[in-house]
Amino acid sequence: PFGLMQDWPMTIDKVINHALAVYPYQEIVTRSVAGPIVRKTYADIHADSRRCSEALLANGLEPGDIVATLAWNSDLHMETWYGAMGIGMVLHTLNPRLFPEQIAWIANHAEDKAIFFDTTFMPIIEAIAPHLPRVKLFVVYGDDSVIPADTKIPNLKSYESFLSGCRGDSVKWGDFDERTACGLCYTSGTTGNPKGVLYSHRSNIMQTLMSMQAGALGIKDSDIVLPVVPMFHANAWGLTFSGPASGAKLVMPGARMDGAAIYELLDSEKVTISAAVPTVWQMLLEYMRKEGKTLPHLNSVAIGGAATPEGLLRAFEEDYDVEVYPAWGMTETSPLGTVSKLPMPLQNLSDEEKMTHKLKQGRPPFGVELDVVGPDGKSLPRDGKATGHLMIRGPAVAAAYVKGEGSILDDRDFFDTGDVGNIDQYGQMHITDRSKDVIKSGGEWISSIELENIAVSHPKVSLAAAIGVHHPKWDERPLLIVKKAEGQDVSKDEVLAFFDGKIAKWWLPDDVAFVDDIPLGATGKINKLALRETFKDYKLP
Ligand code: ADP
Repeated sequence: PFGLMQDWPMTIDKVINHALAVYPYQEIVTRSVAGPIVRKTYADIHADSRRCSEALLANGLEPGDIVATLAWNSDLHMETWYGAMGIGMVLHTLNPRLFPEQIAWIANHAEDKAIFFDTTFMPIIEAIAPHLPRVKLFVVYGDDSVIPADTKIPNLKSYESFLSGCRGDSVKWGDFDERTACGLCYTSGTTGNPKGVLYSHRSNIMQTLMSMQAGALGIKDSDIVLPVVPMFHANAWGLTFSGPASGAKLVMPGARMDGAAIYELLDSEKVTISAAVPTVWQMLLEYMRKEGKTLPHLNSVAIGGAATPEGLLRAFEEDYDVEVYPAWGMTETSPLGTVSKLPMPLQNLSDEEKMTHKLKQGRPPFGVELDVVGPDGKSLPRDGKATGHLMIRGPAVAAAYVKGEGSILDDRDFFDTGDVGNIDQYGQMHITDRSKDVIKSGGEWISSIELENIAVSHPKVSLAAAIGVHHPKWDERPLLIVKKAEGQDVSKDEVLAFFDGKIAKWWLPDDVAFVDDIPLGATGKINKLALRETFKDYKLP
């Protein structure tokens, strides 16, 4: 027999309704794109989201339509997000760091009907609007004064005039199937064409409940959370959901993401936990060292999107007394897959041994199943050594791509992450590489991540990337590409000597190439595709 309990469709409007009911006073603080700090509460966000829903419907958009944003993390972006989702429209976060042609390609592929954007992106929208025949409404955040008199963007409204006259009291939220599409995000395409991941209300609620587990991010109402990670990078890793769901205060950085700007907000708003990719944290630490700053309120940082280098973890923990939670995930996994917090049985290890475990990608929350399989597709032992393809299954993992070729799951309903790693007896997962990034030398694999992490631990190295370049005998050998730390000089021999005793001899890079800048992709990760292109004919010594 079925149980005798209520059906309670897990739809996203319930998140912001909960925030209104329980934490109406809690603040959302935004550094607005225009400059000044704007303070609102969850009650304000709730009310303005409802006004946004009403205005969307009044402008002829319908449930099921795709509403896109090209916007920084802000209160306004959040209102559009909840406003669209609440009435069954799909909120599509476009990534402004892509090339305009890519943005236009994605907007057309997704069949976006409206685009909301920040003033900073006016030039991008000006350039791509003529190529977006399906978009019938453009809305720029601000009042009428931000619209240039000679604009060529058709059907352009300011957000103020879009909302005007809408009180939001007539709108009906929710009351549809929890499997209804809710959000859309394209992968950043670091390993190929961007692919559309279409989240459902149910998958987003499941992800929110997972990320709120104490073993995961464990956000709570005493937390002050700064999502540096943008809403367009896999839903700000769920923080725009788990913030209101848990009653945490949110601090939104708007357009300014440099070390000084982030520091200022962390400090003035007394932020307790923040989340970003490693390159952002490297910038912040460089700024803090230079200026002699400290962060007495910050308790922890989540570092994801790429592996956490040991030097970064050590700097936070040893110099600033901030706990680091390395985290792994993908757009396809909503995104949180694992968070690294030291398992109980390992609490008594020496500091050195603990470090090895902390640097792993971590354990999945309840609701994420992981498996590592060999070339024959069979599960490998969980011994922390057997390394293979990382597979994932769960209610917040994609089953297919938008307009894709059908299911992306294997016969056990697992999705192949494209990452290579192992799992140990404590459930800790460790990624050794991406299958496309591993350096294949003489039929054996060298982990590009491990080489990079060692290199950036060198105080005179700011960023490093290891790629395989062609070698006549070994097929590929590692080349290390290094950006020196500001004002520092370091030689090839000095860098290579730093690997002594840290890796097997045959892993040692064959050469070091110094560059002024290492290209970053649209989510702030090192763009290896571009580097492989630049160095494709590189002659190793
Ligand atoms: P893209 O694949 O386009 O870069 P995503 O942002 O979804 O878009 O990236 C997911 C990938 O990022 C993962 O498959 C993995 O390779 C990498 N990644 C994310 N977090 C980590 C981490 N903590 N350690 C190592 N790699 C990570």
